[in-house]
Amino acid sequence: MKARKIPLWCKILIGLILGVIVGMILKEKALYLRPIGTIFINAVKMLIVPLVFSSLIVGVTSIDDIGKMGRIGLKTIIIYAVTTIIAVAIGLGLSWVTNPGLGISLHAAETTAAVKAAPSLVDTLVNIIPANPIGALGKGDILQIIVFAIFIGIAINLTGKKADPVKNFFNGLAEVMFKLTSIVMEFAPYGVFALIAVVIGQYGIEFLLPLLKVIVTVYVACILHSIVILGGGLALVGRLNPWKFFKGFLDATLVAFSTSSSSAALPVSLRCTQENLGVSTSISSFVLPLGATINMNGTAIYQGVCAVFIAQAYGIDLSLTNYVTIVMTSILAAVGTAGVPGAGLIMLSLVLSSVGLPIEGIAIIAGIDRILDMARSCINVVGDGMATVLVAKSEKELDIKVYNSVQVE
Ligand code: ASP
Repeated sequence: MKARKIPLWCKILIGLILGVIVGMILKEKALYLRPIGTIFINAVKMLIVPLVFSSLIVGVTSIDDIGKMGRIGLKTIIIYAVTTIIAVAIGLGLSWVTNPGLGISLHAAETTAAVKAAPSLVDTLVNIIPANPIGALGKGDILQIIVFAIFIGIAINLTGKKADPVKNFFNGLAEVMFKLTSIVMEFAPYGVFALIAVVIGQYGIEFLLPLLKVIVTVYVACILHSIVILGGGLALVGRLNPWKFFKGFLDATLVAFSTSSSSAALPVSLRCTQENLGVSTSISSFVLPLGATINMNGTAIYQGVCAVFIAQAYGIDLSLTNYVTIVMTSILAAVGTAGVPGAGLIMLSLVLSSVGLPIEGIAIIAGIDRILDMARSCINVVGDGMATVLVAKSEKELDIKVYNSVQVE
């Protein structure tokens, strides 16, 4: 086989495996590889703002029927809400079986790491409207950018003919950004290799052992959720072969895993859903950016597992009301979590404080957070992709020939 023929996901996977091996061999010396990983992350981040902004405007202007837009929005939110609730339940349920915190006994105030406060819900809601849209683009505040792009898109539709130059400009910009995404992705295998080598080199196996149960619980819950709930949803509700989805979406999954960021994976998710899975541009550029910001199935799982872990480690019994509160706050926390590395850890303080668990517990999780972050970011992105395919299917905007052409043996 000629080198050029190896598919991208395969190259990324090879980069990932080599990264693990090299990280184990080099140990802390693997840190020298960090710049390569950073170059890749920077290149991907470079795409996010112009890509989301232009493709979302294209998405909105290509659905000029307000009723249809409302319907798509509603379907998206319902799928996001249902999968997130199930995700927390799976996280809690599995921890109930594995008891990740048993055998570790901590006392409040034993750990001293400083904990940052999570932003309040009201602040999050109020700040959704960008007072300064250029500032929002500059800061890369995705939620504000989404709102601004939707407004611009609606205004373009309402303006009609006179707005055609603006509409064409954004169409062109979106195409250019898609092309740039493919170029950047050629570098992904090397970036992923370096990122993983650094993580493995930094942590080492010994460090992970006492917290192995938490790690295993989060990973198993994530795998269960994606196969049974997300895959099952595609099969039962969408009548689609879920394995084709997992395969066609693999590039995005691997980028999320290695960068621990659903925002960073967004350009790749857009590309996977459109090119590999046959989702229309208008659906994918509407559902995915929204998902990368508010839909966090993996983070919800993680919040559930960590809450139970910390309760057990501190020897605190949780009541049924506590569990219900954890479910509610985990959903809010998952919605409020930004799609950047480590954001879920900060939001965990919201969940813990809602049921009076010691917030210092976060310090213990912090040590292994990167490992957990890789899994949860991955499922965050898979959840977005699944919702996109499902909405596209229901709107007859899924090219079934393209979807079925994904090879899965
Ligand atoms: N890193 C996650 C993501 O980008 C968010 C989190 O920390 O839970 O999807």
